[in-house]
Amino acid sequence: MSSMSEELLDKKLPKTMRTYKITKDDTNLIEIAKEVISKNHIENNLISCGVGSALITSKGKIYKGVNIHSKTSGPTSICAETSAIAQMVSDGERKIKTIVALWVDGKKWDVLPPCGACRHIISQFGDPWVIISKTKKTKLSDLYPLPAK
Ligand SMILES: [Zn+2]
Repeated sequence: MSSMSEELLDKKLPKTMRTYKITKDDTNLIEIAKEVISKNHIENNLISCGVGSALITSKGKIYKGVNIHSKTSGPTSICAETSAIAQMVSDGERKIKTIVALWVDGKKWDVLPPCGACRHIISQFGDPWVIISKTKKTKLSDLYPLPAK
């Protein structure tokens, strides 16, 4: 995980990607994701949880998750976004409005755009806003066009 400046992000973004400034509600979702890490951060021989996610559904319900990184078996790790989505689905909700994931290390933090697997999983629950940096968001369909459904 590395922090990316907004300028570097702008250089890396595809020219066709439409980005939008985040809103006050988005900032609130970021704060909720930070809080879930500070409450649940674990680091030991077997497990590491340093990434948090928060999502808000089309009905306005908020779900949170942390990543579960199994140090004994990499491929079995669970991303924070997947963790939050599992809680949403378990609660009967099916449509994501906005989602964010981020890491925190002391006072440093940054937004993490979702990995490929998460982009696919998110695509099964609408075309939500995805917060991709501290100031920008985009639609999932710009990050992951033509998902298999
Ligand atoms: Zn992921």
